[in-house]
Amino acid sequence: MNKFPTIGILGGGQLAQMLALDGYPLGFRFVFFDPTKDACAGLVGKLIVADYNNEIALEEFAKQCDFVTYDFENVPVSAAEFVAKNTQIFPHPSVLEVAQDRLKEKVLFREQLNLPVGDFYAVDSYSELLFAVKSCGNDGFLKTRRMGYDGKGQYRITAKTNLKELWSQIDGGSFILEKAVHFNREVSVIIARNAQGEHAFYELCENKHKQGILTTTLVPAVASENSPKAFEYAQKIADKLNYVGVLTVEMFETDGCLFINEMAPRVHNSGHWSIEGAVTSQFENHLRAGLGIPLGSTAMQSGYAAMINWIGEIPSVGFTSKEKDVHWHIYGKQNRPGRKVGHSTVVADNAEELHQKVVNLAKLLGAK
Ligand code: AMP
Repeated sequence: MNKFPTIGILGGGQLAQMLALDGYPLGFRFVFFDPTKDACAGLVGKLIVADYNNEIALEEFAKQCDFVTYDFENVPVSAAEFVAKNTQIFPHPSVLEVAQDRLKEKVLFREQLNLPVGDFYAVDSYSELLFAVKSCGNDGFLKTRRMGYDGKGQYRITAKTNLKELWSQIDGGSFILEKAVHFNREVSVIIARNAQGEHAFYELCENKHKQGILTTTLVPAVASENSPKAFEYAQKIADKLNYVGVLTVEMFETDGCLFINEMAPRVHNSGHWSIEGAVTSQFENHLRAGLGIPLGSTAMQSGYAAMINWIGEIPSVGFTSKEKDVHWHIYGKQNRPGRKVGHSTVVADNAEELHQKVVNLAKLLGAK
């Protein structure tokens, strides 16, 4: 390895930006590859702007990098495979293949790992939609198999849904219908695993969503009888995939059960609190795992942490607010409805103090 390895990131969003911000103190250098010229990682490093099918640009990118990783899982597998021929890449492109397809992902969890997932059905035609909706008792979520994130490509199905009309609007794609899980809460496990199979877990995260988009993460989630299983399931998935890097597994918790919803083969929004809240952030540990450097401690710095997402726009008071102990992360993206443009983190010594800080921050900034 060079003294100062250069790390390439396919995708130039806020995750790439934060990977670099936490990688610079370790002496790493960064190059980003993204089809859009205003990709926000470009604010903190060299950005190559080209399509993912541009092999000349991919080769130029790969040649500059000692290691390559991803900012998001929807990077075309062909681009990742091409880069893998020219340099080291983590996690392996075959992981993207599974993570890009909700059906393949669910099959991995249920059929290959025997892990609990809610009922699901492949839907490629109107008749399959009718069958699946009936089997789900008219209570489900229809999702595109590919390219769905932050609630995009997702339709709530109830007895009131006009299926004919819906299908005429969306016809043409491949879908999965998931039976609705009436959960008590949503949790995520963030695990770092290196090529030797060593792993480290962050505290269990409790996540709140609105319209399919993560709004708040509270850490640690109050322990329940299911909590140990959450870590066990995440490790099984990571081991099965021979995973290298940070992997996030999102789950629904009901009274007696945990159902796996999906995985993200990357650092995750529900782990952003770790920048201030943990001894080693998820971003640093992703890089450590990929580069074969011993994993850093995932212990919390103070007992509790919370992250609030800024969606669509940064509240006008922003970081000029009088709240003294709020950490701001503004990604430098253009405002757009439903777009994650920044987040804030607060840390606390106990659950009550954390709750108060989250309430104060939300109130102060007029969050809905
Ligand atoms: P996803 O894109 O699959 O993570 O879905 C976004 C959010 O929609 C989840 O975090 C849940 O809040 C909700 N959701 C998705 N699928 C289901 C389901 N099968 N049952 C209940 N809620 C769901």
